[in-house]
Amino acid sequence: MTRYLLLPMQPTPNGTLHLGHIAGPYLRADILARALRRQGDEVSVICGADVYENWIQLPALRSNVSPETLCRNNGNAIHEDLRSMGIGVESWIDPLGEVDSGAYAALHNELLDRGVRGGGLFLKSERIPYAENTGRAVTGVWLLGRCPGCGLPAGGNCCENCGFHYQPDQILDPRSRLDEGRLIWREERSWFARADDPARIESRLSRLTGSPVFRDLAIRYLRSTGAEVRLTAPGDWGVANRIDGNGAVVCNTFFAYCVYCGEHFARLTGRPNPLREGADRDTQVVALAGVDNLVAALITPLVLSGCLPGTRGFDRVILNRFLLLDGAKFSTSRRHGIWVSDVAANKAISTDELRLFLSSLSLGEDEVNFDVAALIQFVNWHRRRLGSRIAEGEMEIRDIPAGAILQMLKGRGIPVQYAAVEDIRPDALLAAYLAWLSNDDVRRSDPALWRAALAFLVEPLAPLLAAELRSGRKGEEGILIRAGRDLVDADLRSIVHLQQEN
Ligand SMILES: [Zn+2]
Repeated sequence: MTRYLLLPMQPTPNGTLHLGHIAGPYLRADILARALRRQGDEVSVICGADVYENWIQLPALRSNVSPETLCRNNGNAIHEDLRSMGIGVESWIDPLGEVDSGAYAALHNELLDRGVRGGGLFLKSERIPYAENTGRAVTGVWLLGRCPGCGLPAGGNCCENCGFHYQPDQILDPRSRLDEGRLIWREERSWFARADDPARIESRLSRLTGSPVFRDLAIRYLRSTGAEVRLTAPGDWGVANRIDGNGAVVCNTFFAYCVYCGEHFARLTGRPNPLREGADRDTQVVALAGVDNLVAALITPLVLSGCLPGTRGFDRVILNRFLLLDGAKFSTSRRHGIWVSDVAANKAISTDELRLFLSSLSLGEDEVNFDVAALIQFVNWHRRRLGSRIAEGEMEIRDIPAGAILQMLKGRGIPVQYAAVEDIRPDALLAAYLAWLSNDDVRRSDPALWRAALAFLVEPLAPLLAAELRSGRKGEEGILIRAGRDLVDADLRSIVHLQQEN
């Protein structure tokens, strides 16, 4: 038996979740958790909103609400989105909420203090622009200009066009996004961390990710940036730096957030926080993220765990590339995607069916296209197959212990136990379930065993269906109740939003 703490990336509450988000770290963490529990491991999944993401301020400004209000509304909606997709989290962290806010800020400052005192961090001077009329630091979301790499309009610290990373004083024609007067440049110091042994970092990367593609991406980034990670920055939105005046807010907070998740884990389980040194290392910590968070989830925690005394890094990081819809990236601003709240309100398709279909797409090192026609074809094929197998005669339901099912399936060479978390692939779990669904020999010779094993195999992918198979009762939200009816294009019109061609 192994203990796991799974930490899917903190969603940014600048909007609600679409299937592009779900298909990545969230569904994968849930499937992983259920598959690990099935083989007897103890698993906790903890998640929470990334309220201090710098860009939160822009949608708040545009919708004329405070960042706090925006985060509260979207944070609650995101938590509900996860629940309605059957994605279980033991603890939901709201860094602005009553329960967490004080302890959350204190922990970030504690880690910063440890780094400063332990000598693992260093100060670096930068020229920072301030707005003459408001005194605001014009960085991150507020800074506009042209990219020093390609010359096109750009903002923040990274060019959306060419990917070039730059400092505020490198951007061409700098100005504030707001009307707040000219820029006054001041010399400011902020805290940074740097990995002093690049070779060691690179070898640890190989242990963290089983993917050579993502490891090479990370190594290229480390070599081009000198493995430097910023810990504080000028600005006014974030956890306030209470240690000293070098950088007003704490940044690159995913690792400290994860240590905070570890505190929740400790309270939930009575075990030590696995991201603190000295804790017996019997809990494996696995972070999951999209490749856009390669730096936040893989590189920064690796560097910081070496520079912040008393912490330890992750055991595994599982990354994925993006899901496309109709060949294009899901996009909230272009309104191109399928949103979870629409799916939850749509009665024509079960969320379990979407989970099964998403599992078939094997998101990982490659971008994968979500094709609506393929979804309809898969759902109807599955409904017919399942419906015909289940409907054939009154089926006896026998309570068979999970251990016995596991042994029986293992004896037949069906993969149900895994040595490494990367070996648990949703598409392989789906293939095993579908093969068993078509196993007519067992179904005819021992229907109750067949049915119990079918529930066992599908549980990580489609938990509602597993419950239906075990209880014999058709749930309102499940698949069996829909099995007699075909899904058609029109059923999905209210949930599939395709960007309008101009
Ligand atoms: Zn550029």
